[in-house]
Amino acid sequence: MSIALVTGGSRGIGRVIAQTLAQKGYDVAVCYAGNEAAAKECVSECEKAGVRSICVKADVSRQEDVEAMFATVKEQLGNVDVLVNNAGITRDNLMIRMSVEDYEAVLDTNLKGAFLCTKAAIKDMMKSRKGKIINITSIVGITGNAGQTNYSASKAGLIGLTKSVAREYGGKGICVNAVAPGFIETEMTGVLPEAVKNDYLSRIPLKRFGKPGDVANVVAFLASDDADYVTGQVIEVTGGM
Ligand code: NAP
Repeated sequence: MSIALVTGGSRGIGRVIAQTLAQKGYDVAVCYAGNEAAAKECVSECEKAGVRSICVKADVSRQEDVEAMFATVKEQLGNVDVLVNNAGITRDNLMIRMSVEDYEAVLDTNLKGAFLCTKAAIKDMMKSRKGKIINITSIVGITGNAGQTNYSASKAGLIGLTKSVAREYGGKGICVNAVAPGFIETEMTGVLPEAVKNDYLSRIPLKRFGKPGDVANVVAFLASDDADYVTGQVIEVTGGM
C-alpha cells in the first residue's frame, strides 16, 4: 500500500487530489494550515474509499512544522511514497504597491514550503529507491502575469526546483514533476472580478474553466507506475490557454 501526503489538502485542488488518490488506493495524509473542519471532511471522504487517512496541521513555510508533520505521518501511516506540494497562496498587487511582507509570504508558502517538504520526504524515498514528488505550479510561472509578481516568481521558482531535484535524485528512482494549472474553479479564483474571469475564459480554447478534478487526474497519473519514466516535466492543465 502506498502512502501519499498532500499539502493544502483541506480545500480546492488539494482536496480533490487527496480524494482521487484515496480512490486509487493510497493511504492519504491531508496537510492543512488552519481550516481543521475542512481537513477533517476531506479525511472522511478519503476513508469512504476504504483507505487510511489522517489530517495534520502544518504551516509548510515553517521548518519545525514540516518536520513534525512528517514525523506524525511516518508514525501513523508510514513513509511517504507520494508527496504532492500543493499548498499555495496569492497576495496580488501591482509590483510598485506590493509590500515586502506580501512578497515574502507568497514565496515562503509556495516555494520554500515545497523545498522543506521535499527535503523532509526525500531521505526515506532514497532508502526505498522509489518515490513520486508532484509540485503544483501554475501557468503564470511560465508566462508571468501582471499583478502577480510574487506569485509568478514563486511558481517559476517551483519549476526550477522540480527540474533540479529531478536531476539530483533520478538515480535513486525518484520522479519529480510539476503540474501547471490554468484557471481552476476554487476559492482562490472565486474572489476574482467577473471581468477578469471573462478575460481568462475568452483565452481558453476548450471554452470552460478547469475543475479541481482536471488537475487531480493528471497528478494521479504522475503518481502512478504508468509514469515511472517521466521526470523533470511540467504538464500544463489549462484547457489550452
Ligand atoms: P485554495 O482553494 O485557496 O486552497 C489552498 C490550500 O492551501 C488550503 O488547503 C490551505 O489550507 C492550504 N494552505 C495555504 N497556506 C498554507 C500553508 N502555509 N501551509 C499549509 N497549507 C497551506 O487554493 P487552490 O486554488 O486549490 O490552489 C491549490 C494550488 O494550486 C496552489 O498551489 C495554487 O497556487 C495552485 N494553482 C491554482 C490555480 C487555480 O486556478 N485555482 C491555478 C494554478 C495553480 P487551509 O484550508 O487550512 O487554509
